Amino acid sequence: MPVLVMKFGGTSVATLDRIKRAAKRVGLEVAKGYDVIVIVSAMSGETNKLVGYVNETSPLYDAREYDAVVSSGENVTAGLMALTLQEMDIPARSWQGWQVPVKTTSAHSSARIEEIPTDNITAKFGEGMRVAVVAGFQGISPEGRITTLGRGGSDTTAVAFAAAFDAERCDIYTDVDGVYTTDPRISQKARKLDKISFEEMLELASLGAKVLQTRSVELAMRYKVKLRVLSSFEEPSDEAGTLVCAEEEVMENRPVSGIAYSRDEAKMTLVSVADKPGIAAAIFGPLSDAGVNVDMIIQNVAEQGLTDMTFSCPTDQVMRAQKALDDAKTRGDIAFQELIADTDVCKVSAVGIGMRSQSGVAAKMFKTLSDEGINIKVIATSEIKISVLIDRKYMELAVQALHDAFELEKA
Ligand code: ADP
Ligand code: ASP
Ligand code: MG
Repeated sequence: MPVLVMKFGGTSVATLDRIKRAAKRVGLEVAKGYDVIVIVSAMSGETNKLVGYVNETSPLYDAREYDAVVSSGENVTAGLMALTLQEMDIPARSWQGWQVPVKTTSAHSSARIEEIPTDNITAKFGEGMRVAVVAGFQGISPEGRITTLGRGGSDTTAVAFAAAFDAERCDIYTDVDGVYTTDPRISQKARKLDKISFEEMLELASLGAKVLQTRSVELAMRYKVKLRVLSSFEEPSDEAGTLVCAEEEVMENRPVSGIAYSRDEAKMTLVSVADKPGIAAAIFGPLSDAGVNVDMIIQNVAEQGLTDMTFSCPTDQVMRAQKALDDAKTRGDIAFQELIADTDVCKVSAVGIGMRSQSGVAAKMFKTLSDEGINIKVIATSEIKISVLIDRKYMELAVQALHDAFELEKA
């Protein structure tokens, strides 16, 4: 029988009632003749609570134990979903990541899926089971320890299962009815897109649009998974949601197709470092070894052989970055006067494939921000995106102003 993957995010399984509602949707697909693989997230708020416990217990935690704790939320919903389906007389069974097994790298807290053997679940389908409920976000490392895939990782579990089982489609059920031109919670003028290209979705996701985890889009693109984002609260329909698909299938061709933001950015400045060959390696080597994901970098003009080096990284890695740089200073590998961490910033980005062929996008973006009196602290560009780091208090204003400036509300 054809296989369908259905993923339910945190808000879609937040209560027993919502789990029932999600299970009914699964029932509809089973009735159509699909064997269904359901991927569940933890109940909404659960993972944050678990992360909080870990941080309070051990701020520079051992990532293996972080994974042991934060993966547990999904175990609860997987079992409850299987029980709910059984109550509806639908033969269902739950799997934790290690039972499948979802084999991952050992990069704890941001592991990558390497392999998903299908024999186990396929055999059960052969015996009459109709729904396999799998705990999202988790896997097992070559060392046999539980891993997690990074925040939002259940999306990636879902796409990886769709690829492994050659599923007809991967439906991501969430609390919005599709992918919008920007976060509909920030701009009321945000417009739902019927289709979006993999490339644009990839940029939007990596720049903060958390509707899909970046890695899930990468996998869908590589394995040509038919990926759809839709609401678990609206009435079922074949046209619902947003289809993430190849560029050729998307008709829109405008310079900017979406605005993303990320609150989760910190601006770090190393004051008075020596301006000499090898200094960037001496700074960014230890940061990388400490698992700090450096994003934007600027080196200021040198004066008397000294310069300031600025970079951005996720706010939850600030402590790690500070420790790595202080340790390098203690070892005598680098010298700097002070390290300033500014966590009151955010990143706002404009994304669009049309940027490849149309000029003036950056100029328009900078003019729009300047007209609102917003100061730009750092800029980064690529072929299809422009990102700026600005004060966090201007985030909503910047997103709305850019959404207006690029006329994204108009179809
Ligand atoms: P889930 O728990 O179902 O995985 P998430 O909270 O991870 O849901 O992702 C859905 C959220 O993504 C929405 O509630 C919305 O606020 C946010 N979001 C950010 N950018 C966008 C966008 N461009 N389109 C749709 N939703 C977006
Ligand atoms: N529960 C995990 C998180 O909140 C994984 C997910 O929901 O996708 O990040
Ligand atoms: Mg999510």
